[in-house]
Amino acid sequence: MTIRDIQKHYTDRTMSVREVTDAYLARIEERDGTLGAFLETFAASARLRADELDAAGEDERAKPLYGIPFANKDIILVAGKTASGGSRILESYTAAYSATAIERLEAAGAIVLGRTNMDEFGCGSSTESSAFGVTKNPLDLERVPGGSSGGLAAAIAAEMAPFGIGGDTGGSVRQPAALCGACGLRPTYGAISRYGLMAMASSFDTVGIMATNVEDIASVFRVIAGRDEKDANSHTVDLPIPELGVMDVSGLRIGVPKQYFDDRLEPGIVKNIEQAIAAYEAAGAVRVELDIPILEDALAIYYVLMPAEVSSNMNRYDGLQYGSVTEGNDLLSHVRATRGAGFGDEVKRRILLGTFVLSAGYVDAYYKKAVRAREALTRALEEAMRDCDVIMGPTSPTIAWKIGEKFDDPVTMYLSDIYTVVPSLAGLPAISIPCGTLDGLPIGLQIMGRFAQDAKVMDVAHWYLERPQ
Ligand code: GLN
Repeated sequence: MTIRDIQKHYTDRTMSVREVTDAYLARIEERDGTLGAFLETFAASARLRADELDAAGEDERAKPLYGIPFANKDIILVAGKTASGGSRILESYTAAYSATAIERLEAAGAIVLGRTNMDEFGCGSSTESSAFGVTKNPLDLERVPGGSSGGLAAAIAAEMAPFGIGGDTGGSVRQPAALCGACGLRPTYGAISRYGLMAMASSFDTVGIMATNVEDIASVFRVIAGRDEKDANSHTVDLPIPELGVMDVSGLRIGVPKQYFDDRLEPGIVKNIEQAIAAYEAAGAVRVELDIPILEDALAIYYVLMPAEVSSNMNRYDGLQYGSVTEGNDLLSHVRATRGAGFGDEVKRRILLGTFVLSAGYVDAYYKKAVRAREALTRALEEAMRDCDVIMGPTSPTIAWKIGEKFDDPVTMYLSDIYTVVPSLAGLPAISIPCGTLDGLPIGLQIMGRFAQDAKVMDVAHWYLERPQ
């Protein structure tokens, strides 16, 4: 069901909030033994809240997400619930407060169903780096759902929740959405408060939204976006809201960088992306060929800066402040034992990489150079976007791959992020929407917009999914 379908049940009084909530919990019960999307469901508190909402008056019923259940990636805090970040080190950590996004959703009438599986602290593209087992792609149980929000994407694709929220740093909402056939938005950096989102790489971290359609994403965006005193990077002005439905794409200028179509892209995907762009052109949009050479370096820039930030953000997990503790004889051995046992291999790899690029002998050669390259890339995109309204291309260079196929080859795994890291580096909004299949598995079209033009990105994406055919 979409959010609108559920709302229709409420206005027609054909289902109660409790019945809708029970239906989702039953669906999770039925499917999740096979898929492994949820780490935990909050069945008791969800039912309690549903009953409260059923008993509530008209004021409550008028709220924008009244009685809408949702899934939460286990990196966003919900007060009183376990929040693990997919990591052994936080296995026993209980959140002391709720994230701003959660508070706003709950205040709007939404009900959190549970927390979903993910790569440890967001580090990964397949959900195989979770400390709590793999999640399977509902469309092919032998394949990964993408990552790091693979649990969220599997939950949406298997209709175990109508929407969900999760951190998107370098593509963690968009790429799994693409691999599972869902829609995923990464907002402009600062458009949605990061307060209560566990930090991975702070200058890239955003709270993203996943659903089966753009209308639902827009409904959630309207509720959670906007200024928040608790996040210093949050925008001071509210962004325009999507109009959805009135969008006319004639005259829309679509930038298509030639760098997106090199030999790293699986050839079978090219046709679908070209067909999607052609559909816009047939409705009067104008294709603008772009040549942005620095895009070839986007992945390298991201994989220097991101580990640098991950390595410093992971410092807080020392066994002294929160989470699990492995006892040592003295302070140093205590910290060492806790971190040694608590972190998985991928997080350790990034801590090592990050510490290396920040170390005295190498900071100029790697970190500072990457900072300058990021600025150059941002400028190049700004310049390119003077000639176009949006930039389109694939979300992922491949369709979902077999579980285990890339797990022992981190560099190949990192390559799956080549397109999603582009808007992440520049802080720009981007959405992934389904655009056909290859070998029966979904392909994602990534639409990136100008700074703060989240509404435009959603309008353009909505047009494609709803276009007359
Ligand atoms: N796959 C990317 C990475 O491993 C994206 C992570 C994210 O957005 N959290 O860094």
